[in-house]
Amino acid sequence: TRVLLTGGSGFIAAHVLDILLERGHSVVTTVRSEEKVQKIREAHPNVPTSKLDFRIVEDIAQEGAFDEAVKIDGLEAVIHTASPFHFNITDTKKDLLDPAIIGTTGVLKAIKKNAPSVKHVVITSSFAAILNPHKGLYPGHIYSEQDWNPITLEEAYLNSSNGYRASKTFAEKAAWEFIEKEKPNFTLSTINPPLVMGPIVHYLNSLDALNTSNQRTRNFLQGKCKEEIPDTGVYLWIDVRDVALAHVKAIEVPEAAGLRFFATAGKFSNKAICEIIRKHFPEYHSELPSVDVKGGDYPEGPIYGYDNARTAKVLGIEFRSLEDSIVDLVKSLKSVGA
Ligand code: NDP
Repeated sequence: TRVLLTGGSGFIAAHVLDILLERGHSVVTTVRSEEKVQKIREAHPNVPTSKLDFRIVEDIAQEGAFDEAVKIDGLEAVIHTASPFHFNITDTKKDLLDPAIIGTTGVLKAIKKNAPSVKHVVITSSFAAILNPHKGLYPGHIYSEQDWNPITLEEAYLNSSNGYRASKTFAEKAAWEFIEKEKPNFTLSTINPPLVMGPIVHYLNSLDALNTSNQRTRNFLQGKCKEEIPDTGVYLWIDVRDVALAHVKAIEVPEAAGLRFFATAGKFSNKAICEIIRKHFPEYHSELPSVDVKGGDYPEGPIYGYDNARTAKVLGIEFRSLEDSIVDLVKSLKSVGA
């Protein structure tokens, strides 16, 4: 299948790209600069342009940003991953909401207008569009695809964490509304992962410009948690290779059409990450908090559960263990100088 992948330089997208190629798909990916085109091309030296090609889309927040990029002969599927995921923002609307929402509606409008051969679209949404921030640890509740974050526009502006969660919630809602109102020729699936961890691709990354969800592991390696292990925040996670495969399966499996997928491996805590590093990497012992340092553990009482059955059954995902994910992440961080 000929697939357009947006944001091909991202942490998750780099794995989606590799899995698409492995499974014989032909990929066109958007990135923001010629420099990123070169890096990705150099990392795939034996892949011909017919299998891997590029389009530059500098800013997905601009109306019409994807109008030209989707004009690809024989294009059948689109995987839209590009969206800001970081908290160092100055303007919630400009830095988070606009690229998330306009990026999503923009790619859907462009496909409807300029790419009539597209049959299926997959969008990377998030657990951020599922969780209910007013409920805290929500004991007894089982999160699933049925849940929607009730966050409001007003709440989006309270802090950057709300801003990010609102950006993902509003973008996903806008996508389903587009399908309902515009009745396009294509179907939609969304993949809604919680915290995504696992190996980075070295050619796109440095320790300083590391994607947000892997920073907590890097911080352990850099001795930043010696006094206290930070609060875990959200206690659900998935390995990047599993969530990437879920995106690819969502374009391959017809039953995925019209569904959200709460792609979750299970629970984790920051303390568990620390103990995995301690067990496997003696070279970092001097940077780690000692075993009796406080913080980062699961809360004392019960917390929410999760239902990942749809992702396992419909997409056939078998979830990697936290141990495998963190070991491979730490190895990849070493390769960029950790
Ligand atoms: P990255 O920061 O690595 O990837 C984000 C991608 O989006 C990058 O390719 C980035 O390009 C691109 N991007 C951001 N803003 C713009 C813009 N204005 N114009 C064009 N491109 C833009 O993070 P992840 O790989 O983790 O995130 C990918 C997707 O997964 C996002 O939709 C995110 O919300 C979602 N997600 C991530 C989770 C996680 O824990 N990692 C959890 C749940 C969902 P560039 O790098 O060139 O700026």
